[in-house]
Amino acid sequence: LIQEHQTTQNIKLCVCVRKRPIFKKEEVGGEIDAISCSNPMIRVHEPKLKVDGITKYVENHDFQFDNTFSEVEQGKDIYDVSLAPLMDLLVNQGVVTCFAYGQTGSGKTYTMKSIQELLAIDIYKQISATPSYKIFVSFFEIYGGKCYDLLNSKAPLQILEDKNNNIQIQGLVEKPSESEHELFQLMELANSVRTTHATVANDTSSRSHSICQIAIRQGYSDIGKLILVDLAGSERAQDTQSNNRQRRLEGAEINKSLLALKECIRAMDSGQGHVPFRASKLTLVLRDSFTAKSNKSRIIMIACISPGSSSADHSLNTLRYADRLK
Ligand code: ADP
Ligand code: MG
Repeated sequence: LIQEHQTTQNIKLCVCVRKRPIFKKEEVGGEIDAISCSNPMIRVHEPKLKVDGITKYVENHDFQFDNTFSEVEQGKDIYDVSLAPLMDLLVNQGVVTCFAYGQTGSGKTYTMKSIQELLAIDIYKQISATPSYKIFVSFFEIYGGKCYDLLNSKAPLQILEDKNNNIQIQGLVEKPSESEHELFQLMELANSVRTTHATVANDTSSRSHSICQIAIRQGYSDIGKLILVDLAGSERAQDTQSNNRQRRLEGAEINKSLLALKECIRAMDSGQGHVPFRASKLTLVLRDSFTAKSNKSRIIMIACISPGSSSADHSLNTLRYADRLK
């Protein structure tokens, strides 16, 4: 029995899973669909191999989340229950952070792009009655522990802590946006800068976290803030064994930041005192959003899953990560 999806209105931390469709070329290559999804459940059928490499039996792993989305559901279905219900909060001091987590090729960027499109429309609808509300956008990536500005030709950026203990990203360009079209164009520009020159061998988009910040302001004060984070491919966290020194260091950095993110979300959700923001650059730049007045802050985690049987291990890792956030 498939349940209706629950909305984020009343949950501070909403953990969702999205399974993408299996591609024709994957099926042609011998992959079978190893995931069955029926909200709020999801099952991984993990093939167990014999020594000679032949599948002996299949082990099932079941998980339950706030929401699970199958391959037939669209970006809009996710958006409608996760971000759309938070539009009022976004003009009332709300701080909303939405993450896409998962292995490379699982649909993180695809999911984020559809969310960005729908958001651009809704934000302008939301502020249309109040002309003094203005939108500002910044977009950067964290790669190998360093920040680069995606709205300013990948200029390197310094992360500093000012004397009031606020985190500042020095030199980060913030662009005003006057319309949904302009906002969408800025996001498109940043997305394209991120993936230009990305080949399989040199795919920076799978090795960096990208962070899009949209501030809604009146005069100089923020009345709401939205942060969309497309995380580095989670399989990169296992690159720590690589023979290539560069890959190994990147893998270690990604591993550290994804672990830190998990620890911070857990600590905040449980109301535990110490939250280890300093453990990585990723969590450090998110600190001020995470520590916003707690009844006004929302976190949405979208764990993305590739359905192919050869990805079952990675899919299990992704689901275990998402499961431990709660
Ligand atoms: P990631 O950012 O996690 O590496 P992508 O978002 O680039 O993965 O997705 C990998 C490929 O799968 C892309 O070609 C994308 O268009 C396609 N894709 C991902 N999710 C879906 C989906 N839900 N429906 C159809 N195609 C998808
Ligand atoms: Mg991507």
